[in-house]
Amino acid sequence: MPDKPFRPRVVIIGGGFGGLAAARALKRANVDVTLIDRTNHFTFQPLLYQVATAALAPSEITSPLRYILRRQKNTEVLMAEAREIDVVHRVVRVDDELKEIPYDYLIVAAGARHAYFGHDEWEPYAPGLKAIEDASEIRRRFLLAFELAEKSGDAREQQEYMTFVVVGGGPTGVELSGAFPFIARKALAPDFRRIDTRKTRVILIEAGPRILPTFPESLAARAARDLGDLGVEVRVNSAVTGVEPDGVWIGAEKLRARTTFWAAGNNASPLGKLLDSPRDRAGRIQVSPDLSVPGHPEIFVVGDLSILVQDGRPVPGVGPAAIQEGSFAAKNVLRELRRQPRKNFRYRNKGDLATIGRSRAIADFGWVRFAGRPAWFLWLFVHIMYLVGFRNRIVVLIEWAYAYFTYQAGVRLITDVERYKPPSADTSAATRIDEWETTLMQSKK
Ligand SMILES: Cc1cc2nc3c(=O)[nH]c(=O)nc-3n(C[C@H](O)[C@H](O)[C@H](O)COP(=O)(O)OP(=O)(O)OC[C@H]3O[C@@H](n4cnc5c(N)ncnc54)[C@H](O)[C@@H]3O)c2cc1C
Repeated sequence: MPDKPFRPRVVIIGGGFGGLAAARALKRANVDVTLIDRTNHFTFQPLLYQVATAALAPSEITSPLRYILRRQKNTEVLMAEAREIDVVHRVVRVDDELKEIPYDYLIVAAGARHAYFGHDEWEPYAPGLKAIEDASEIRRRFLLAFELAEKSGDAREQQEYMTFVVVGGGPTGVELSGAFPFIARKALAPDFRRIDTRKTRVILIEAGPRILPTFPESLAARAARDLGDLGVEVRVNSAVTGVEPDGVWIGAEKLRARTTFWAAGNNASPLGKLLDSPRDRAGRIQVSPDLSVPGHPEIFVVGDLSILVQDGRPVPGVGPAAIQEGSFAAKNVLRELRRQPRKNFRYRNKGDLATIGRSRAIADFGWVRFAGRPAWFLWLFVHIMYLVGFRNRIVVLIEWAYAYFTYQAGVRLITDVERYKPPSADTSAATRIDEWETTLMQSKK
């Protein structure tokens, strides 16, 4: 009997922007594809902040990976956590049982997590925003704070509950802090009897000299003005030195607030450490120009987990870069299978957008820069276009239109209250930390 023709197996770790783009680029290829993700869904991270601020429901910005790839017959989806990469035997080991998934080519697109600059102990008091669970947690804390303020009879305590600190003046911090005052002052105000939610304070803290450092100075200044108009207190040159359940330290000054959110930094997925290749300080793997790992031409790393310097600047950690890289890595696999030489990746920046709040955004296309309502409409259009799934596009469009005309935030759901209770004000700091740690450990079970 003749030997079966060689049909390579391409394993992709991560079903985010990069991994999904890689899988789709292999749609008609003569290969078998296994896409591994620890969750069963793709998350459209640019709209996570809308889930965190009760504007959208989790299901509206996520889509099951199996459903997305249901027509791609050469591709299987495996809901599993990659734990080990054995580059010698060319297998990925998943889950507790370390089940082995062999590969001929491996594309790693495991993304990044928020980082606390060596202060992981701050995480329970200042959750970050990366996955859908984080967004639900932020929404819960934000809405719960008003319920607790309404219950409290103490004016000082009420104000502390209605004070929110957002750490980090990048796009995520700006989006989060810009959305909170709007909900507090418009959507929530008529619903409460004992508190005036219009007195809500939102403080955005940035360690550097300005917010939105990746945008041109003029647009960042415009965004800071817009945030000020919305009632956000922007504090630059303010490095956070401590985070506690009832406030945030900036040097010797303590800002009293019962709710803090973290949007200040990213670390690459720990999976990168398994590849034993050079990494930068954020843990990103330094890839070759063809996106492969030096010394391992059969392994590619794409998206937020990789670092590639072009024209003296790193390719940015944004959705379009991950999509372009994922697709490019897959095409390099196909080139090789056709015995063609690989190509070197070039990132094409199609422009940067950030929204600040209702009718406010900034847009930078290099050759043209603008802000305000036109940028906001463009932001809406682009995000609808990039959302995965026709149903999600329609539903989000309707939600946005409804919110625009009614000033409502439609998803004001507080869940898991019993499992998670903030500390009482009169206990000592140490007891409060113990209380929070206990409740958080319980809530994570
Ligand atoms: C809040 C927020 C807002 C953003 N806003 C914008 C924006 O407006 N515009 C923009 O362009 N970019 C934005 N970004 C950045 C953009 O989302 C990322 O650059 C992009 O998601 C990176 O794609 P990726 O494929 O590398 O990783 P991800 O999209 O993060 O996907 C990684 C995937 O890997 C999976 N995974 C991780 N580890 C494992 C493991 N061990 N085993 C199995 N699966 C694993 C994860 O579950 C996940 O599905 C934002 C990011 C965040 C967090």
